[in-house]
Amino acid sequence: MEMKTGIETFDGVKRLIIVAAHPDDLETLCGGTVVQLVQRGVKVFSVNCTLGDIGTQDAATTRPAVATTRLLEAEEAARILGIEQVASLGHHDGELVADLELRAQIARLYRSTQADTLFTFDPYWPGQIHPDHRAAGQAALDAYMPSKMPLYRPEQLREPDAGLGRIERVFLFSTAREPDISIDVTPVYDSKLAACMAHRSQFPKGLENLEWLQNMDEENGKAAGFRRAETFKQMIVW
Ligand SMILES: [Zn+2]
Repeated sequence: MEMKTGIETFDGVKRLIIVAAHPDDLETLCGGTVVQLVQRGVKVFSVNCTLGDIGTQDAATTRPAVATTRLLEAEEAARILGIEQVASLGHHDGELVADLELRAQIARLYRSTQADTLFTFDPYWPGQIHPDHRAAGQAALDAYMPSKMPLYRPEQLREPDAGLGRIERVFLFSTAREPDISIDVTPVYDSKLAACMAHRSQFPKGLENLEWLQNMDEENGKAAGFRRAETFKQMIVW
């Protein structure tokens, strides 16, 4: 497939939901794309399936303490990127499973946000070593179809402003399976880095801890002729 480039690839997107596993996934993997979509008037809803509560090398702290810190960091990053709402589904980090409960939690958010577009992890990338990333991507895709069916968890449809799921477009990130979309994030890279650095518990040395990310984005950029890029693979769902 021909590589699509440019933020116009997402023309028609009005309400975007992003299903990630941990606080900082969205910022590192698609923060530069998100900030440009927000600038174009897109409403963005962020979902973190886990609390990120093992995200530390400090064996003396506790999981609830880590979770609290990371929720606050995610909210700060969301303000920097202009994200409408951050939802945390409360699962334990390192233990996420794409089960029926997680599917229902995500479907409920498709219905309450009335998102038309989904970004999530590519669960089919064989190189995806993090089980939570695989589970988040799988559950996000699994929730797509039932969210549109009125007899699935009908109590969700009685919540204020909820309606049947209306996602029409699905884009997968964190994929090495021939990404077909490359977005130039060079002009907004400072905002992306600022949102990533809001996760101080993960990157206490700031930019020094984010060299891998800059290298990855530069590597992604090379293929498309940009300085720095984020890549996606579109999943055709109709
Ligand atoms: Zn993660």
